[in-house]
Amino acid sequence: MSVLVVGSIALDTVKTPFEEHADLLGGSASYAALGASFFSPVNLVGVVGDDFPPAHMETFRSRQIDLNGLQTVPGKTFRWSGEYMLDMNVRETRSVELNVFEHFTPVLPETYRETPVVLLANIGPNLQNHVLDQMERPRFVVADTMDLWINIAHAELMRLLPRLDLLILNDSEARLLTKETSLIKAGAKIRAMGPGHVVIKKGEHGALLFGENRFFSCGAYPLEDIHDPTGAGDTFAGGLAGWLAAQGGASVTFADLRKAVVYGSVLASFNVEAFSLTRMHSLSMNDIEARYEAFRLMQQFEVLD
Ligand code: AMP
Repeated sequence: MSVLVVGSIALDTVKTPFEEHADLLGGSASYAALGASFFSPVNLVGVVGDDFPPAHMETFRSRQIDLNGLQTVPGKTFRWSGEYMLDMNVRETRSVELNVFEHFTPVLPETYRETPVVLLANIGPNLQNHVLDQMERPRFVVADTMDLWINIAHAELMRLLPRLDLLILNDSEARLLTKETSLIKAGAKIRAMGPGHVVIKKGEHGALLFGENRFFSCGAYPLEDIHDPTGAGDTFAGGLAGWLAAQGGASVTFADLRKAVVYGSVLASFNVEAFSLTRMHSLSMNDIEARYEAFRLMQQFEVLD
């Protein structure tokens, strides 16, 4: 089964304390689509300008991502630039240029409208709602969001939440949305706003999954070297949604979601090992399964005697 991914497609400039690279392939949809492509076919919806490098287009094609929903319009591609501090959990946005994104209206090709699993990667909730309006009864809808939309598009985000089976956001965003310090209280409070399930990401400290009277806590895979944390959350969401789509997506159980969260974490852990999406080029299913198993053993507890 396929997954539809909509979000930003960007040219990123990323600086860490050790390296700086410009015009990298970035954007929430790029990371999410590549993450999902390891498990299921992907239908990509987004926009780029006529300056978008053919090599980046080739990156999507090399993962067999369907590009019928990708618009190329006159003008410049969305650009984002960020700088990481020595503590790579801390990032400053240096600049954002909306460019062709400013007037983007996602139009779904007819062939995309019945895609069973939908991943609304991070973009404005008005666009996320607009995509859902065009879908024919999707089986499972996942969305990601960010502090910007909680602050400037609150009403539109509130309209989106009841339409979701799963909302993914990070710890500071969960606190901003609920005004709660406790993430456990925040998870329950966000579920009460509408989504069937909530995942709260905690960066290098893992993720929490909330369902109806159900809870799962997953650590992050321990890595010695993180080269570029950009897109870790989007890759997580892509891996999670792609894995769910591969299971058929008909009736998603809490056990499925637990496993999907672990696969998402594994995919994200690979992606941060290199800048942009470089690590995805050499990644194999064997690598993914081996890390899943290593991760499983690390997280295992013995039963009390
Ligand atoms: P993350 O590291 O998960 O926050 O995702 C970083 C990616 O999000 C970068 O590749 C950016 O191009 C993209 N991005 C940054 N700001 C926005 C925005 N306002 N809307 C959509 N995508 C964005």
